[in-house]
Amino acid sequence: MTIACAGIGVGAVTSVAIGDAFLLRRGPVCVTPSWVSTELIEAEVGRFEQAIRAAAEQLHGVRDQIPHDTPSDIAEFIDTHLLMLEDKALSGQPIHLIRNEGLSAEWALQQHRDALIQVFDQMDDAYLRTRRDDLDHVVSRILNILLLQHDAPINELRGQIVLAEDLTPADVILMKNQEIAGFVTDYGGPMSHTAILARSLGIPAVVGTRGATTCLQHGERLVLDASNGIVLADCDEAMLQYFRARRDADQSRVTELRRRRERPAITRDGQTISLLANIELADDVIGAHANGAQGIGLYRTEFLFMNRQTPPTEDEHFAAYRAVVQGMRGKPIAIRTLDLGADKQPAGSSYSGASCNPALGLRAIRLCLKEPELFVPQVRAILRTSAMGPVRIMLPMLTATWEVDQARRVIRQAMQQLDVEGVAYDPDIPVGGMIEVPAAALTARAFARRLDFMSIGTNDLVQYTLAIDRVDDELNYLYDPLHPAVLRLIAEVIRACTETGVPLSMCGEMAGDTRFVPLLIGMGLREFSMQPAALLDVREQILALDSTRLAQIVKRAFDNLDDFDPTELLRELGAAH
Ligand code: PEP
Ligand code: MG
Repeated sequence: MTIACAGIGVGAVTSVAIGDAFLLRRGPVCVTPSWVSTELIEAEVGRFEQAIRAAAEQLHGVRDQIPHDTPSDIAEFIDTHLLMLEDKALSGQPIHLIRNEGLSAEWALQQHRDALIQVFDQMDDAYLRTRRDDLDHVVSRILNILLLQHDAPINELRGQIVLAEDLTPADVILMKNQEIAGFVTDYGGPMSHTAILARSLGIPAVVGTRGATTCLQHGERLVLDASNGIVLADCDEAMLQYFRARRDADQSRVTELRRRRERPAITRDGQTISLLANIELADDVIGAHANGAQGIGLYRTEFLFMNRQTPPTEDEHFAAYRAVVQGMRGKPIAIRTLDLGADKQPAGSSYSGASCNPALGLRAIRLCLKEPELFVPQVRAILRTSAMGPVRIMLPMLTATWEVDQARRVIRQAMQQLDVEGVAYDPDIPVGGMIEVPAAALTARAFARRLDFMSIGTNDLVQYTLAIDRVDDELNYLYDPLHPAVLRLIAEVIRACTETGVPLSMCGEMAGDTRFVPLLIGMGLREFSMQPAALLDVREQILALDSTRLAQIVKRAFDNLDDFDPTELLRELGAAH
């Protein structure tokens, strides 16, 4: 057995995956100048034409595998690429170069690509620039085939462990229905949206290995142990048996816990804790119910924007939200308004952001207030669904209280429009906000006066408090939710909400991590929202806790917060049953 590489584990319902490696090579393809001898020229033309046919087959495969709830534009996006493949403007010149100058197929295509890109680069038009990216994608696909690299026809991924330099949230959505066994990336942190999505979709992963794609071979049998953040190669039969048994035990445990999912989460001393789910796609309500969620505490709507070229229409927003409202059968749903930007950039759009610090840039509510054409259709769609069930609006990444005032103005105007159109909505729809920027946490009381509910987003709160990019795996060692500064900010928000009577929840990953739940209950938090699978373990844990005892331990730790020992505190809290 070899420990092939180590990174940060992203555990899902089960944290073990066994499967063959699928090396997903993307990114810039390196083509060096090369020529073929005269007698091989016609064979080379044939090789080029065959690569174009293979690229088209791959794309048809991807098209057939698009999950049914994926926005329709993804199919159009693939159709555009298929049309390019059929276009003689793409294939004519390389064939000419092979026949007349004896260039190899890949070198001829690369030459033609460079000439076309030069033309696109001289155009000053955003739409045409997206066509340039399309051209690049299509050419890379053909080059990958010519160079015998492995690009993924997505329907070949089933049961495999995908190895990639990096994956975007959009990639993970496309793998959703493919039953991949797991994935391993060279880059990326455990708080990236790619990792969050994997957890929520139940895909075990190891991220930030810095070398998996170079030290592991395509096709070799791997074991991925997400709880320890390692990937093993060359396992003998005894080891494979051990890991199969662990995987099966994980699954049996989940089946057992799901049987008890309707039990209310009440601590031993009678404190009721609300347990809600975070979701990304309408289908995720199935997991929310399966794991006993009492509602949706965070619906990340920006995934509607992934894998498409144009923003969703109001009706597309509405259709997605209506599916969630109907699926949740009367349970409350906090629909978070768009949190685009940073590591969630929709492809080929004018709002993809040119900032060198995208996490500090035009993201979330900032982008929405600046671009009403993005925000208003979403707000109208949420309002329309509010007539159908207990829906609330949640504003992400608030920094200044006037952002709430402005957002409320947009909401009021949308209500007035709907009145004129005679469309039903809930005029008392609660409007809440996420506290994920230190400035907002430190002024939580002022936000509490303007908001109907609040939710702490610790993924970003930790990032912004400690000045570390949450997707940069070089900084994983600094990502610490137990840093005294982070704990002080969380305590401040809890205090502000308790004193003003504004309902408070936490929807960052910290809320679904059993290491931190006793601490948060001891700090006074009573509502937790997390990826659905985590609900099972957190519920079991809460049943064994004594909130009064936890509050005493936390109070002592806070009296000496600058010098406290986090490991010792967690140990003490964990033992306080
Ligand atoms: C957070 O920041 O904690 C959060 C829940 O939002 P997201 O992870 O989508 O940024
Ligand atoms: Mg956030």
